[in-house]
Amino acid sequence: MCVHCRAQVKFAARVQLKQVIANVYDKGVWQRVEHYHADCYEQAEKPYGVPAEKS
Ligand SMILES: [Zn+2]
Repeated sequence: MCVHCRAQVKFAARVQLKQVIANVYDKGVWQRVEHYHADCYEQAEKPYGVPAEKS
């Protein structure tokens, strides 16, 4: 689920849908993973900073 739009973030290999996976920490302790569509992450004003590009 995309945290921003609540739609599913699909993992179809044939469709190059960009996604952002954010590891959320609180006081240095891991809390959860949040998934965003790349566009949604932009619209949410990058709550966890600029995502690292992965090839
Ligand atoms: Zn979304």
